[in-house]
Amino acid sequence: MALTYNKKYDNIAKIGNKEIKFKAWSTKNEKDYLIAVEAEEEINDSRLYDLLIKPCLEDEDIVLSLNEQKMLMIEIRKKSLGHTFAMRYVCKKCKQVNDLDIDFDKIIKFSPDNFHSVIVDDMTFNFGPIATDNLKRKLDDQETNVDYAFTEMILHIQSIELEGKLEDTFTFTELKDFMEELPSFIFDKVYKDFQEMKSKLDFELKTYCMVCNTENEIEFDHIPNFLWT
Ligand SMILES: [Zn+2]
Repeated sequence: MALTYNKKYDNIAKIGNKEIKFKAWSTKNEKDYLIAVEAEEEINDSRLYDLLIKPCLEDEDIVLSLNEQKMLMIEIRKKSLGHTFAMRYVCKKCKQVNDLDIDFDKIIKFSPDNFHSVIVDDMTFNFGPIATDNLKRKLDDQETNVDYAFTEMILHIQSIELEGKLEDTFTFTELKDFMEELPSFIFDKVYKDFQEMKSKLDFELKTYCMVCNTENEIEFDHIPNFLWT
């Protein structure tokens, strides 16, 4: 008898207008992650994606933005380790330590990507999601925040209308050189509009102290006890 456990992708995450079928983490996923944490200096977003998101997807080729990726990770976590996480905070008024189990859905503020065109002077920049996973991985190579922000923006440019002509076939390097030659007033306008189009993901919680009932507002940059370590 061949002993096989058939994977079932029977959960659906709705992220923006995407519906993504996934399975919960298996023991292998957990083990692979824990080994990576022990052996590797740093686990970047792409590595985390390969370890804990991609193996759970029915369609492994789907390309997600970083915030969509984080949202999906939360959905997988909810199905795998539960829909709450434990945290504690100190009340700002009476200094009581409060221990809570918090539902993920109570802290998530998410607005999905909203890409569109930007017209400056006689140029139109058409924005959309990053086309391939390979392109997205260019973000991992960026060493400064300036390079990251610049690269992130140009990866989302799908075509440019220039003097009445639509340019939609170019390499990453050609596009990079082109953008670097633009007058800065054009670049700045395009950059500013792009920032508005990007999805936003923040975590915040309003909660009341169990002793004095004072409202405490908590902002998270990361969620405590999210994974096994
Ligand atoms: Zn209090």
